[in-house]
Amino acid sequence: MSRYLGSACKLCRREKEKLFLKGVRCSSASCALCRSRGKKGPGQHGASKSKLSDYAKHLREKQKAKRVYGLTEEQFVHYYEVAEKMKGSTGDNLLKLIELRLDNVVFCLGMALSKKMARQIVNHGNILVNGKRVDVPRYQVKIGDVIAISKKYKTGAVIKNLIENKTSNVPSWLSFDKNKVIGTVVSEPLIGEASHPIDSQLIVEYYSK
Ligand code: SF4
Repeated sequence: MSRYLGSACKLCRREKEKLFLKGVRCSSASCALCRSRGKKGPGQHGASKSKLSDYAKHLREKQKAKRVYGLTEEQFVHYYEVAEKMKGSTGDNLLKLIELRLDNVVFCLGMALSKKMARQIVNHGNILVNGKRVDVPRYQVKIGDVIAISKKYKTGAVIKNLIENKTSNVPSWLSFDKNKVIGTVVSEPLIGEASHPIDSQLIVEYYSK
């Protein structure tokens, strides 16, 4: 299944919550979910949703996670299958695997305005991991990895502006050196500190049916 290329705001309306898919615009008054349509879902029947069934709750949480991280169904299922084979809680493992994707780490470090932009920056070869260019957004970072940006991207107005006005907190499992514009993975992602609140147990129950 291909990646969704439609309106990002439509996805938020579908999930009835802000998924922050458009970076800073999501925090402004222009957010589609904050405007007149409020929490109405997309489409002519968007406002007439009744109470969700258990199945629908599980499905929606899985869809939300996919959308927050910009993953296709195939990619998401792959992560779930890997998580299942790991020791410990499948739900926690799933979130850890996805949080450790290079594009997500680039976003969490504040090197991009949104996860979509982070994926593009990686795709365009602007990210170095331990000094080597990595242009694969799904690349799994490890503890101790040092993430930096290419010289070309470093001199661009976008990143300069981002770093100068950086206000977002870097999660505790990452560290960021604002002067050098480099980030380091200091530990595994902490459950409960994922870049978006997701109930991974609902996702496990969805795939266990
Ligand atoms: Fe979602 Fe609002 Fe951002 Fe649109 S602007 S993607 S509705 S959070």
